[in-house]
Amino acid sequence: MKLLVKRIGYVFMMVLFVSVMIFGCSDSNDDPIDQRIENSLDDDDANDDVSDDVSTLTVDDEDALLFMLEEEKLARDTYKFLNEYWGMVQFENIMQSEQSHMDAVETLLVAYDIEYDILEDGVFENEDLQNWYDTFVQDGIVDEVAALTVGATIEDLDIVDLEEHIKATSNTDIADVFSSLQCGSRNHLRSFVQSIENLGETYTPQFLTQEEYETILDGSHEQCN
Ligand code: ZN
Ligand code: ZN
Repeated sequence: MKLLVKRIGYVFMMVLFVSVMIFGCSDSNDDPIDQRIENSLDDDDANDDVSDDVSTLTVDDEDALLFMLEEEKLARDTYKFLNEYWGMVQFENIMQSEQSHMDAVETLLVAYDIEYDILEDGVFENEDLQNWYDTFVQDGIVDEVAALTVGATIEDLDIVDLEEHIKATSNTDIADVFSSLQCGSRNHLRSFVQSIENLGETYTPQFLTQEEYETILDGSHEQCN
């Protein structure tokens, strides 16, 4: 009986595999990104969502994915540290969002069969990101406004870096995921800036232009894929 079930399972998988080969991912661009990510995580036929582009992934695309994985980790680890230090629920909530951003990038790395490492909390392969982290945890313990300013700075940087990578890639899987992360970062930036202003201070953009910054701040909370 068990063997029969196994055989049926095997035949089903073969049929699935063949249909995937035939139909590819012709309609994948219509799917919400997170749906696709979820599919990739949950289903055995995950890779059919991205397999079309495998041959077109450039070295720059690979580097962009590896870099953004660690930049999202920079956000997650910094907010984790600041949450433990200040016990501010805002850091805890956004930290969880950063974990989902890491997961989204990781899903692409797995789908494209790119080797990657996620080092322990507060440790980064990329020297620049390590320096940022070391600076942020120093700056963030001064007071709550300083901690929130670190948050705004990370989102400010994140949005600009993502924009650069979106412009540089012709891979739609990467562009879609990065656009979704950017949407989340805009919400996070608005949230941190709002809290800074609630404490009577202001944030000055360090990476975004003043115009880009104002456009984001003028917008309201977005529903990100
Ligand atoms: Zn993020
Ligand atoms: Zn963020």
